[in-house]
Amino acid sequence: MLRRAVAVELEVTKELNKLLHSIETAYLNIVREVVEYAVANNVTGANKLQRLFYNKYRQEYPSLNSQLVIQAIRQASQIAKSFIERRRRKGLVDKPYPEVRSVSIRFTEKAWSYEEFVKSIAPVRLGLSLPNGRTEVWLRLHKRFWQYWWRVLNGEAGLGKTLIVKRRANKWYAVFVFEIKPKEGTPQSVISFDINENTVAISRIDIETTVDKVAKWNKQYLTPQLYMIRTDFGRLARRYERIRSTIIEKLKPEFALPNGKYMNITNTREFRKRVKRLRERSRKLGRVRHVANELTKAPAIIITEELSDNPQELMIDGIVKSELRHRIKQTPFKAVERAVEDKALEHGSKLFHVSSYRNSRVCPIHFTKLKMADDWHILKCPLGHYVDRDYASVMNMNWKLTPEAWTKAFWWNLRREMDWRECEEKSNPIIPHGIVTLLQHIMENAKASLEQSPAVLARGKPMNPAGGANEGGGEETSHTLLRQGGGQL
Ligand SMILES: [Zn+2]
Repeated sequence: MLRRAVAVELEVTKELNKLLHSIETAYLNIVREVVEYAVANNVTGANKLQRLFYNKYRQEYPSLNSQLVIQAIRQASQIAKSFIERRRRKGLVDKPYPEVRSVSIRFTEKAWSYEEFVKSIAPVRLGLSLPNGRTEVWLRLHKRFWQYWWRVLNGEAGLGKTLIVKRRANKWYAVFVFEIKPKEGTPQSVISFDINENTVAISRIDIETTVDKVAKWNKQYLTPQLYMIRTDFGRLARRYERIRSTIIEKLKPEFALPNGKYMNITNTREFRKRVKRLRERSRKLGRVRHVANELTKAPAIIITEELSDNPQELMIDGIVKSELRHRIKQTPFKAVERAVEDKALEHGSKLFHVSSYRNSRVCPIHFTKLKMADDWHILKCPLGHYVDRDYASVMNMNWKLTPEAWTKAFWWNLRREMDWRECEEKSNPIIPHGIVTLLQHIMENAKASLEQSPAVLARGKPMNPAGGANEGGGEETSHTLLRQGGGQL
């Protein structure tokens, strides 16, 4: 089940604002006190804490709905648990208790008008149990809410019973949680993708048109479509890096120490405030979502590489240049993968992982080992043609799902160097047999037609025949090279 939270602003009168503030204060007090007790006494069980504290707080805050008291205690239990767990894992105790600065107030179905709300066709207000009794509150509904509400009416989504009310910049919001049923779609395409520093390489096979062409035996068109989405994560990181250095230079005079040195400016509040204003994270997130949407528009079989838990660390290993390290850290491989996985479920796609072994080092037509050419991202096949390493990578991912060709591709010519353990396919659930057969067929056909015109794989000629540096110098950090061991750097 997928969850989507949608925040809707509440229409708040002066009086309502006062009421909400009063329950927020009471709720926050309960959470803080119970967390402190729980951590100090190592008692974190929600039921135990409820037995210990429920009556006390019912007397202390008689006007607070009993459900809210229970929820506050439960929230405290969760906060205490995760604090103790963090402390255990990191072994750090810099604070004796977790600092609870703000709370989201949880209204269970008994404390808000869930039953009425969920039955309504166009809910525009809700009822909250507040100290003066059940109070009607109007909602400032927006498009995103209606999109999910439409799915509730269609039976494609459910509304979570718990409503969260929270304050942000002196406005009050109700957060609705929609539970969306993953779609069961018939895959319309087979898509492989590979994340690099500035691009995402994609191979797309449109099943319906392909099957049609197979029937007509129109060989010429039977190759996967190869293209790139520009993400410019690397360029974005470099730009923000420059801006950050400028901020540091500007702030330096303010933080000079008597001995002529400077404080660590990145730790200062002033610096953090300015960096926050840059909105680097949200810009990056926007691009991540764009990639995920592009890949999951229609139900598809999506193939990508198995990433380690922390792909960046693996890639950084052995790279000394600090700017380069920083940029690789900034490429959100995992975030893209997670976003794709999440969207894939929602739109009825299925995600499959293949091993990353030699994906960008083998010619996807001749199964020979590719050699370095003058340009960094173009490789040369011993049979004389050029291959873009990103296209090699996605094409070889396709091969890896076709068992017969897979053994050929990674056996021939490379037998002696092969590490069997690395090649074990471990995490693949079952791909429909028809798809595997089709993929095998298409890849065999692609092989045949690419043998005639291998230039399709090259994405243009090597750019610097004289062997000069790449423009921007950024391409050498590509995921593709580094995960192969980075030996060429
Ligand atoms: Zn070749």
